[in-house]
Amino acid sequence: MLHKVTTTSDALQVYRERDLGSTAIAQVRKGIEIQLSAATVHQGREWMEATLADGSAGYVFGPNARGHTTLGGTPLGSPPQTSASPDAVILRCRTCGQYADTRLVSINQNIGAITMRSVKSIDGELCKKCIRKYSLKYTMVSVVFGWWGLISFFVTPVYIVTNIYHYCRTFRMKG
Ligand SMILES: [Zn+2]
Repeated sequence: MLHKVTTTSDALQVYRERDLGSTAIAQVRKGIEIQLSAATVHQGREWMEATLADGSAGYVFGPNARGHTTLGGTPLGSPPQTSASPDAVILRCRTCGQYADTRLVSINQNIGAITMRSVKSIDGELCKKCIRKYSLKYTMVSVVFGWWGLISFFVTPVYIVTNIYHYCRTFRMKG
């Protein structure tokens, strides 16, 4: 579904990729008509594909498009937003269900018992609180019970290192 909108300021940037750090291919002046696609969420951010009058196309950051065009708050089939700040991240935490700043993680716990092993995993978008909670818990359990068994002996250090990595990345998260 395409939406024809008109820019209401000189500030709308069109990016080459769905990434605020990517090259801006155009800065659209006020009063220009552009076409926007339905919103999609990419790495926790809302983006829309923008096609300019000259046929060039790129991506606009959702909150910018809403703030700098006649689109306003029209829902484009996107999930609800928690705030309109440029860093608004609108995914839902897989374990607690809150809309929050989330990261895609895979947190694992290994319990080794010589001939058997038991693995617990959480994969998906998690909020800061939940990543911290589960990476700590799963790391502690793996450190204590993880080593007993041949496969366990090799798998456990990998789990511990990735869990610690996910924990450390939460320092840069909001919430
Ligand atoms: Zn959570």
